[in-house]
Amino acid sequence: MADPIRRWWLTAALLPVVLLQAACGDSMEPSTDAGKSALIIVDMQYDFSPGGSLPTAGGDEIVPLINSLQDRFDLVVATQDWHPQGHDSFASSHPGRKSGEVIDLDGQQQVLWPDHAVQETHGAELVAELDRQRIVRVFQKGTNPAVDSYSGFYDNGQRGDTGLNDYLRSEGITEVYVVGLALDYCVKYTALDAARVGYSTTVIVDASRAVNLKPKDGDEAVTQLRAAGVRVLRSAQL
Ligand SMILES: [Zn+2]
Repeated sequence: MADPIRRWWLTAALLPVVLLQAACGDSMEPSTDAGKSALIIVDMQYDFSPGGSLPTAGGDEIVPLINSLQDRFDLVVATQDWHPQGHDSFASSHPGRKSGEVIDLDGQQQVLWPDHAVQETHGAELVAELDRQRIVRVFQKGTNPAVDSYSGFYDNGQRGDTGLNDYLRSEGITEVYVVGLALDYCVKYTALDAARVGYSTTVIVDASRAVNLKPKDGDEAVTQLRAAGVRVLRSAQL
């Protein structure tokens, strides 16, 4: 084959390959840093549901949505508030004090709560309607009688560690999505800790409900979460 014809032939033969690569861009490359996602279902327990000792309005209504969301994540875990009797976060442990009052507890501002999520009681159980087939681990928190633990990662003094962070890292998780109860306490602090230790963090707000000790607490939680770099989305926006 004469040289000019040979060059034309090579160009004609290779052009579709070059165009195809350009059109597909990076999608032809194997992904090297594909993170995995985890759904953290916070404290879906009877005591935080209507009829419980520390209820959230509508806390039972979010269970079907949480169940339907689970398949969208690589990994699903749950947290469970799990207090010994006489826990220091209970108003009943402080004579003369009432639920909703704030005291100083070992240098921490502590809201006093009605007795709730006491170990081995019905109120501490995860609600039966929650689909547990994909929940690979349940992380218990609040087991230290002297310190409260809103977050599923660390107690309120940032000392006690539930092991959730190490577990998620060991599973290659880089993105977490937080749902459950309650938006203005345990969901908020779980999401804030997740963002602080480096996860891309989203709260799915319609799969959560607030205690609203003060009427705007849920709204203020959303503002604080966004200020800390946490995405707050509705499930339809995922
Ligand atoms: Zn608690």
